[in-house]
Amino acid sequence: MTYSVKECFVSLQGEGIRTGRVAVFCRMAGCNLWSGKEQDRSTATCSFCDTDFNGIDSAGGGRFASATALSEHIQATWNGRVQDPRGKPYVVFTGGEPLLQLDPALVDACHERGFEVAIETNGTLPSVDGVDWICVSPKSIDRMVLRSGHELKLVYPQEGLDPALFEQMQFEHFLLQPMDGASRKENTRACIEFCLAHPKWRLSLQTHKYIGIP
Ligand code: SF4
Repeated sequence: MTYSVKECFVSLQGEGIRTGRVAVFCRMAGCNLWSGKEQDRSTATCSFCDTDFNGIDSAGGGRFASATALSEHIQATWNGRVQDPRGKPYVVFTGGEPLLQLDPALVDACHERGFEVAIETNGTLPSVDGVDWICVSPKSIDRMVLRSGHELKLVYPQEGLDPALFEQMQFEHFLLQPMDGASRKENTRACIEFCLAHPKWRLSLQTHKYIGIP
């Protein structure tokens, strides 16, 4: 298996329940809900994406010929930034859609190096055995096959995705995150109001954008 990685870097988790935790972010290239090309945005299943996930040309990106090679790269990325050997190494596979490429061999290779493995997925593909933390951020209820995990992080508001649609699914945490863009202020207010009225849901903010980290 060859893996295409857009970028790979160390930062602090900016959103969700694990906000503030240091991690290697391994952004896998490609997504199944949008081509990443502006001319396709209006007809894409997911049309509000603000992530550049195509290609392998950003810092830490590349094409890796095996799970061993990519796990080595992830470890080197961690070691290049983290000084204290205490604390569990942590890798978050994100995208794009990481489940287009993540497979058991890569999860195992990361585990062998002592990493805890997380994914941030749109939930339209089955997960991989052994993943330690599953965060689903749904973009389509019809195409959603991954209906259990650790956190469900709903970008809000999205047409046709009422939070109530997800409440019976098997997640430990339910989070509402304001959609970014021109209406972020209004969307944040709407999320606050919703969470105040529906305590099952927690507010998730993209803190990395506020504090200026990747
Ligand atoms: S599913 Fe995620 S990565 Fe894919 S287009 Fe939407 S926001 Fe971007």
